Amino acid sequence: MTEFKRPDGRKEDEMREIKAKVGIIPNADGSAMYQSGDTIAIAAVYGPKKMHPQHKQNPKKGVLRCTYNMNSFSVSDRIRPGPSRRSTEISKIIEWALEPVLDLDKYPNTVIDVHINIIQADAGTRCAGINAASMALAHAGVPMKDLILSISAGKLDKTIVLDLSKEEEDFEDGEGATDIPISMTNSGELTHLQLDGKINSKQLKKAIEMARKSCKKIYDVQKKALKDAVNVGDN
Ligand code: UDP
Repeated sequence: MTEFKRPDGRKEDEMREIKAKVGIIPNADGSAMYQSGDTIAIAAVYGPKKMHPQHKQNPKKGVLRCTYNMNSFSVSDRIRPGPSRRSTEISKIIEWALEPVLDLDKYPNTVIDVHINIIQADAGTRCAGINAASMALAHAGVPMKDLILSISAGKLDKTIVLDLSKEEEDFEDGEGATDIPISMTNSGELTHLQLDGKINSKQLKKAIEMARKSCKKIYDVQKKALKDAVNVGDN
């Protein structure tokens, strides 16, 4: 272990505090909130419902359509509202991260809309969005083989750390900051990994190992939030 200190005093493999709640949007078929430190994501699921326009229907399987949006008030420098290149890319990535656990062939010609809104952002928003969407899909009763857990690892001053805050993400160690969002099933199958920056294979293995351990904790939090929603009759 190095003497390296994180700005908020966390250990290298320590996540920010997480909170989750299911059933937050009554009009939606399924909904959830996931908070990691100061990053808060909400997700609302509508569907499966008939896909319109008709030419977008797939007679073999349903379509998972995710829309990621960072609200303009989510950071102190107001973000321009509306879709951007970044939000379009993240929406696609979220679809890819979630699709492997869904049986979309059961729902031909339909669409499952997942709207993900980041209402407060302090890095790790795509991971928070994926965690919120995973719970919202389960809450909507969409059959899933497993839940999807997501967390970001990164390299800070040559040390691999978990769940970077914005302050840490902005840190430049001479090689550029490294951010590695990772998503996986509870059985440990990776469904998403992005790598922005420079890292060697040993460091990458360590990052994935750290993510694996924390995903067990995220699974417990997601599961508890889903059970709590059922227990209060909100299913
Ligand atoms: N961010 C911002 N304005 C933007 C985009 C991002 O302030 O237009 C901040 C926000 O805190 C976000 C962080 O930069 O969480 C990191 O963004 P990135 O694109 O790396 O994705 P994320 O880590 O949120 O998945």
